[in-house]
Amino acid sequence: MVVRSIVPRLGYRYRLHVRSLPGSPDLVFPSRRKVVFVHGCFWHRHQKCLRTSSPKTRREFWEDKFAANVKRDRSARRELKRMDWAVLTVWACELKEPDKLTERLTDFLSDPQDSK
Ligand SMILES: [Zn+2]
Repeated sequence: MVVRSIVPRLGYRYRLHVRSLPGSPDLVFPSRRKVVFVHGCFWHRHQKCLRTSSPKTRREFWEDKFAANVKRDRSARRELKRMDWAVLTVWACELKEPDKLTERLTDFLSDPQDSK
C-alpha cells in the first residue's frame, strides 16, 4: 500500500486501523489528533472520479449500498470532528501520484489547526 510507504517517512508516530474511533480510520496520529481515511473511489463514491462508475444492472441494490457507505463515512467524519479530531480523506486514485499525495499528507499533518 502506497500510503504505508509514504507515512513512515513523514516522521510522525501513527497507528493503523483504530477500531475504537468512529469509522475505524486507516491512519491515526494521536499526538497530532489527526486521522486519515483511505477510501476506494468506487465503494465510497469519489465525486467526479472516473473510477466511480455505476453498475448497469441491479441499480437499486447498488444505489442503496453506495448511499449507506457515503452516509456512514459522513457520520464518522462528523463524529470525529466533534471529538476534536482533524480528518483527511485520501482517495485510492490519488495513490497513483505519490509526490502529490506526500505533499497533501505533509500539509495536513503539519498544520496545527487543521480541520479539513
Ligand atoms: Zn477517485
